[in-house]
Amino acid sequence: MQTAKDIRKTFLDFFAANGHEIVPSSPLVPRNDPTLMFTNAGMVQFKNVFTGQEHRPYSRATTSQKCVRAGGKHNDLDNVGYTARHHTFFEMLGNFSFGDYFKDEAIKLAWDLITKEYGLPADKLLVTVHSSDEDAAALWRKIAGLPDEKIIRIPTSDNFWMMGDTGPCGPCSEIFYDHGPSIPGGPPGSPDEDGDRFIEIWNLVFMQYEQLSANERVDLPKPSIDTGMGLERLAAVLQGKHDNYDIDLMRNLIEATAKAAGTDPEGAHKVSHRVIADHLRSACFLIADGVLPSNEGRGYVLRRIMRRAMRHAHLMGCDDPLLYKLVPSLQGEMSDAFPELDRAGALITETLKLEESRFKSMLDRGLKLLEDEAAGLAKGGTLSGDVAFKLYDTYGFPLDLTQDALRARGIAVDTEGFNAAMERQRAEARKAWSGSGEAVTEKVWFELREKVGATEFLGYSAEQAEGQVT
Ligand code: ATP
Ligand code: MG
Ligand code: MG
Ligand code: MG
Repeated sequence: MQTAKDIRKTFLDFFAANGHEIVPSSPLVPRNDPTLMFTNAGMVQFKNVFTGQEHRPYSRATTSQKCVRAGGKHNDLDNVGYTARHHTFFEMLGNFSFGDYFKDEAIKLAWDLITKEYGLPADKLLVTVHSSDEDAAALWRKIAGLPDEKIIRIPTSDNFWMMGDTGPCGPCSEIFYDHGPSIPGGPPGSPDEDGDRFIEIWNLVFMQYEQLSANERVDLPKPSIDTGMGLERLAAVLQGKHDNYDIDLMRNLIEATAKAAGTDPEGAHKVSHRVIADHLRSACFLIADGVLPSNEGRGYVLRRIMRRAMRHAHLMGCDDPLLYKLVPSLQGEMSDAFPELDRAGALITETLKLEESRFKSMLDRGLKLLEDEAAGLAKGGTLSGDVAFKLYDTYGFPLDLTQDALRARGIAVDTEGFNAAMERQRAEARKAWSGSGEAVTEKVWFELREKVGATEFLGYSAEQAEGQVT
């Protein structure tokens, strides 16, 4: 079996042998980039190289990049536990050309790697191209010998990749693996494409533009290449599994959880085991990169992830803190590739333990309130915004934790009511302050805080920003 570790190594070695510099993963918190909450793709550390603002001593690079998609343009938090292919933390394997090779060679390298080095059967693969990109379609026919019906033309933004609202971007071509008719879901571009039968494994982005603002796009100095393939998705395919959570690395984490909690990983708590394995990875890697739980910005995303995991531990019947006990297992799986997990080991363990013990009694009491309120609601019902706000304000329940808790029962949350309750409380806080002797300083502080919060959330879509505390 090719383990996740083997697969990462094969990838980097293949591109090194093809003239690429192996560059270490950059941290999850992008340096000097307020447009982005977390590093969400391999290209993030090369953003300024693509735009020509920064020069490197190489024009080809390859990485295995740590990514978190739990906020901003790419947010998979609500997919975890519900699809076979999404994590909040994952590794993106990538190769990059900075004005060196373009489409032709990018397609050739990708096809050789997956069919020859990794040995994937060509007849299980299909690709998409942007519908305006006849070049790419012709190259796939020529290089891979794919028949026309396996080169699917997509007119939507699915085949136009953007890092965020601004930054380098371009049309893309994606490679999908067909897991076979026993799994529901249609091919890309079809009405039922959201199923998990056809799984996207690799995205080849033909970087040609830089988006400067909503309606201003310029050409990059030179056409470039940026690719990204999820290590866990590739591992699933190569290990004969359909589900990312069944690969060696995730399985070992799930089993460690089951052992620590005394639970059956395949029983009633299957989803909770997956969520915990996923959230454990994001929480530990975020802490290792300097994020600490807090009530705003990146720290609040971390807190939301940790608290969601804690609710799942509670569901499994764990009375004692659980997550911190799993740190050694994660280190065993990943610290040879990411030594920061060992370097920050003590900080990670203490942070998890502290947050878990502090949140515990609020979690228990808040869930009791949530139970009582939900008991009166039928499937399809809505929890009032005031209750959601009370859970948030008194018990520290992030809005998305409440939504996640009710989702399995088909109960929604009145988010407008929640936001209104939040706004009322803020207005009262402002009113109370204006009467105090330090009104001016506090007003300035308050405004500054709101402003700084707003900057932090630049990468957010309006809908995600709604649930945020600033
Ligand atoms: P999907 O459509 O499945 O959500 P995507 O189109 O959002 O994926 P890209 O932005 O193209 O993904 O990222 C490049 C690659 O990174 C994907 O082809 C996939 O292999 C991997 N990837 C993306 N998101 C995730 C995730 N949440 N968990 C695991 N792997 C991911
Ligand atoms: Mg996605
Ligand atoms: Mg996609
Ligand atoms: Mg994609």
